[in-house]
Amino acid sequence: MSDRARVAVVGAGVSGLALAILLRRRGVRCDLYEKSAALGAVGAGIQLAPNGARVLHELGAEHLVRRRGVAARAIETRRWDDGAPLSRVPHGAACEERFRAPYYLIHRADLQACLVDLLPPGALHLGRAVLSVDQRRDHVELRLADGGTATADVVIGADGVHSALRAAVVEDAPRFSGYSVYRGLVAAGAVPSFAADPRVMFWLGPGRHITYYPVAAGTVHFSAVCADAAGVAPRTRDVDTGALLAEFDGWHEEVRHVLAAADEVTRWGLFDRDLADRYCDRRVALMGDAAHPMLPYLSQGAGQALEDALVLADCLVSGVDLPGALRQYEKQRLARTAEVHQQSRLRATTFHLADGPLQRRRDALLNARRDLGHLEWLYGG
Ligand SMILES: Cc1cc2nc3c(=O)[nH]c(=O)nc-3n(C[C@H](O)[C@H](O)[C@H](O)COP(=O)(O)OP(=O)(O)OC[C@H]3O[C@@H](n4cnc5c(N)ncnc54)[C@H](O)[C@@H]3O)c2cc1C
Repeated sequence: MSDRARVAVVGAGVSGLALAILLRRRGVRCDLYEKSAALGAVGAGIQLAPNGARVLHELGAEHLVRRRGVAARAIETRRWDDGAPLSRVPHGAACEERFRAPYYLIHRADLQACLVDLLPPGALHLGRAVLSVDQRRDHVELRLADGGTATADVVIGADGVHSALRAAVVEDAPRFSGYSVYRGLVAAGAVPSFAADPRVMFWLGPGRHITYYPVAAGTVHFSAVCADAAGVAPRTRDVDTGALLAEFDGWHEEVRHVLAAADEVTRWGLFDRDLADRYCDRRVALMGDAAHPMLPYLSQGAGQALEDALVLADCLVSGVDLPGALRQYEKQRLARTAEVHQQSRLRATTFHLADGPLQRRRDALLNARRDLGHLEWLYGG
């Protein structure tokens, strides 16, 4: 890449911010276009496994993330009605020792704020949605919603599952998964055991599951996933807590207690896309959810987005010509992201089994996995 080459990154989510930090730090001219006028309004809790956490450390964000987030001591899974423990996989110090990073729990807005702190001034252009790109022989033109245009030598689409940039690489549309998720925050007092044992709690039941965990001192985040035959719009604000509790009728009292404590609940349809066989075309590449949007059941979307950023930054500064650098990135990321994408989809079935023989087999398998060894493929990256 020549010293004068200019990179445009579209979307200031986790992936776009991480890439812009890495490129700017290496002296690459990089502009980050974000459609929102301000960051932080969208999203809720994020679990960041050590494979993503290591990239945050590489970015120099460790002290910021440790201050704002929480390091999980364990991931615990329980049965939906009687709360019977199905598994507890200790994380904490064992995780840091084995994978050189903790398992972080943090609010998405706080994670974004940590990354923005590391971005040099002038790189981020808020309120600038990109509508499309036009590839020319030796550069790319960006068309913006405000009527403006911009040019760059290479453009990276980091604009999420409903990406506008994806059309420059792949022709497809987001796929509604048949599930939607209710997400909200509650005061830490709703789960008193988190004070001594901050951890991720999963509860599995027929057609539904719920996850909750502390995201900061004093705050717990929950995601309650339910089968949704009707299909919902991508986001519905201000859901009535009564409707949410009705979805979890008969569930364990701790689950119902957490849900009842929420005052602002948002409902999202869960979308992914079939995996593409390419992440780039000439001078345009996709990363994060724009490249490989996955269902959230392995809690890996942001982790994979961070892995993308590190590989893509290395490829772009490797000295190879720009289209060649993008192909290298694609080659290095396709197999890994395909595996995580596929494993995430599989869990749409296994997490939501009706009580019966298959559910009992799943629970026996969960029970047999009590240490970090079975996560080596994922956390080791
Ligand atoms: C219910 C749920 C729970 C999840 N839990 C986890 C978890 O625990 N752990 C985990 O790792 N991942 C989790 N994820 C996934 C994770 O949130 C995403 O994978 C991750 O945020 C992807 O980051 P990104 O930067 O690729 O995209 P995004 O975070 O979606 O960011 C895209 C950015 O692009 C901007 N943008 C969009 N269009 C344009 C445009 N045309 N022009 C300019 N800007 C644009 C958007 O405003 C946004 O800022 C979860 C997802 C869901 C739905």
